[in-house]
Amino acid sequence: MQGLMMNRPMSIIDILKYAAEAHPDAGIVSRRTEGDIHRTSYRETYGRVGQLAHALKALGVGEGDRVATLAWNGYRHFELYYAISGIGAVCHTINPRLAAEQMLYVINHAADTLIFVDTTFLPILAALGEHLPKDLRIVVMTDHDHMPETPLDVLCYESLLEGQASQYDWPEFDENTAAGLCYTSGTTGHPKGTLYTHRSNVLHAFMIALVMGPKLPQGTKVLPVVPLFHVNAWGLPYAGPMMGVTLVMPGPGLDGPSLFELMDSEEVFSAWGVPTVWMGLLAEIAAQGRPPKGFGDVVIGGSAAPRSMIEAFEEMGVHVNHAWGMTEMSPIGAHGAVPPAVQALPLEDRLDYKQKQGRRVFGVEFKIVDEAGTRLPHDGASAGELFVRGNAIASGYFDNPEASAAAFDAEGWFGTGDVATIDENGYLAIQDRVKDLIKSGGEWISSIDLENAAMSHPGVAICAAIGVAHPKWDERPVLVVVAAGEERPSLAELHAHMAPHFARWQLPDDVIWRDSLPMTATGKVSKRQLRAGLGDYRHPELR
Ligand code: AMP
Repeated sequence: MQGLMMNRPMSIIDILKYAAEAHPDAGIVSRRTEGDIHRTSYRETYGRVGQLAHALKALGVGEGDRVATLAWNGYRHFELYYAISGIGAVCHTINPRLAAEQMLYVINHAADTLIFVDTTFLPILAALGEHLPKDLRIVVMTDHDHMPETPLDVLCYESLLEGQASQYDWPEFDENTAAGLCYTSGTTGHPKGTLYTHRSNVLHAFMIALVMGPKLPQGTKVLPVVPLFHVNAWGLPYAGPMMGVTLVMPGPGLDGPSLFELMDSEEVFSAWGVPTVWMGLLAEIAAQGRPPKGFGDVVIGGSAAPRSMIEAFEEMGVHVNHAWGMTEMSPIGAHGAVPPAVQALPLEDRLDYKQKQGRRVFGVEFKIVDEAGTRLPHDGASAGELFVRGNAIASGYFDNPEASAAAFDAEGWFGTGDVATIDENGYLAIQDRVKDLIKSGGEWISSIDLENAAMSHPGVAICAAIGVAHPKWDERPVLVVVAAGEERPSLAELHAHMAPHFARWQLPDDVIWRDSLPMTATGKVSKRQLRAGLGDYRHPELR
């Protein structure tokens, strides 16, 4: 028997319409590429999104067309999220840190017809020049007065909006209509595209609002350092207006001093980003001798938050939420917004919880399996590959049957490629990427655990643990380390520091010093590049 309830399709534009009506005082603060601070409300933004929708139509954008963005976090990028999906087209966010070859690949694979670009990234397109598709039109995201000199044939964002009506008669379509496209840079092969729907993005916004809503009363200021150009800025462009919080967009200023200055002057309460960004902020906090005004909450994800980083924030009264997810999951899968009882625990006990990646959010299910695909118990000890399914998880990759076929198990669950444990209380602990686990004498060693322990040494700024070939043990761990200062702790000192957390055979056999570590386009240490960069490095016993 069917129920008797309205079946209104979920639609992304409805989020902004709601915010314009229910949260007209909240909005967006942006540090613009023009150099100034810009303020707008969700009400005003809704009107501009209407104008932009008219402009897109005038440019001939139709339903299902892919429209690309190459931009920092700012109000214009936010407007594009809503206007493009609002008219039934697909917002393809491009990561500006992609190598030229990959960028051309995604533009061609997505068959983008139009690309919106920040002035700062225009040189990237100019360099691609004649390799760009002939029919790709370019819109520069600024006003007439700030249009840069360029050899490219370009349009101006603000000129396109000028004179357009702010009222737009938003079409209604199936909630499974594609709304967004984001490519992940696989470690091998070409980037793979996750094609979000209106339904998945709206549901994902609910999921985020459910875990963060209680911490973020209406009008609170939230800073997405996590980029709009990747993984939907962890859903904040949707969950933010839904919750009625004001989004503070950092534009190009992602270094510690710039973030500190913006957070301090805007009194941002909650800031969201990857660990590497927080390293810069923590250094600036140390230099200033105080945290930014009003700062009380941080979401850390994208790669494992080091225990020492969680400790530094918690000690200054900033609550840490460790989050885990993937592009293919919209992206949040687990969230560490711990209950008040955990937040009240003594620091060391609290850190034990917060070092884990949190518990699943509503709408996401977990299973961990061994190499034969058999389910493992959630006992906090059994480690296996994590598989997920849920309402905002990819069911395939865009126009890529091979990658799609390889990504799911026989039951239709998506294989994350992460190795994890889940404890009796539902806390997820990511041990490693399957391919980064170090196998020594038939036993696994978690590179994340080694890195965490080493990074709590004051002489270590950042490090990566990798396995190197060994004739007897198959692989042995070595650490590649960037020093925090002048002092370089010896291997013996690092062993002494790490020993309480490991069996002796798990400790690294060597330490390799570097001035910096190679990063991926999404701000993670690139172990692939790191290994390649080690050239003919050999285990000490083989030299
Ligand atoms: P991406 O699709 O670029 O967001 O990358 C997803 C991958 O990042 C996951 O499969 C994990 O390997 C890693 N990741 C994300 N968040 C965390 C976290 N909190 N701890 C450890 N690894 C993480």
